[in-house]
Amino acid sequence: MSFATEVKAELVSVENKDCCAIAQSYALLLFGRAFSGREMSLLTENKQVAAAYTEAAERFSGVSAVPERTEAGNYRIVIDDRDALQHILAALGHDATGRRRVNFGMLESDCCFAAFIRGAFLACGTVTDPEKEYHLEFSVPTRGLCEDLMKLFDEFEPSPKMTDRAGAYILYLKNSTDIEDALTLMGAPECSMRVMGAKAIKSVKNTVNRKVNFENANLRRTVEAANRQRDAIAYIQQKHGFDALPPELREIAALRFENEGMSNAELARMLSESITPSGVSHRLARILRIAEQLKEKDRSQ
Ligand SMILES: [Zn+2]
Repeated sequence: MSFATEVKAELVSVENKDCCAIAQSYALLLFGRAFSGREMSLLTENKQVAAAYTEAAERFSGVSAVPERTEAGNYRIVIDDRDALQHILAALGHDATGRRRVNFGMLESDCCFAAFIRGAFLACGTVTDPEKEYHLEFSVPTRGLCEDLMKLFDEFEPSPKMTDRAGAYILYLKNSTDIEDALTLMGAPECSMRVMGAKAIKSVKNTVNRKVNFENANLRRTVEAANRQRDAIAYIQQKHGFDALPPELREIAALRFENEGMSNAELARMLSESITPSGVSHRLARILRIAEQLKEKDRSQ
């Protein structure tokens, strides 16, 4: 089941008060594929939404339409009975010219605004799986209707953006927090939690990856430094012997050479005299410089 299907299942199951049931039904019809005195119709992939749409049409007209299955497996509901259409338009305060704007007079109180947005989403909305992408949109058939829907969002403040695509007007949200808010507002708090959960998992993964990368880089630097030191010590020992080193560097040179994986702190603990890990680091740096000087001298001879 896609995330959008889960969201719609949760939205369809919201228990509406009478005023909100009217608002939701109104939006289902208004945001459908066609809404006029000639035809009202909806095309949806979702069986429950198809049922909600026929119920909405029946509420205002008394006529029950039967969804038909398309070849692609979607559901199409068409109401073309003129009397039924007139009843619906009259009940919703629309005239037969097919002017498709929201009649805000149909929304009695604040609770109805959310129910109306829910109905609009059921009719023309979709949302991407939050594990893949943050995207929620309404694909609205006309610009005027899209602007009216935008006004409703102003009240609630996820801040959608508007664009057009293939003849439809798209109201969309890209921000995960806005999508969470919109889902909660429309009546899908469980799906909203799923978005939050997906975001938390992504954030932990990123932190772990950053930490692993950081530690890998540190480890690599430590190993590279130890290898350079061992090469330098091997050169001094083979070409000149440890006598070429000042006495205070001889012990650390031997220890570094014999203990490949040891950190400076561990080497410091093994030394017969007490010095700090950074003291060890300084001495190893001096050994590196001496090896460079000896190599320089050997090359020039
Ligand atoms: Zn209400």
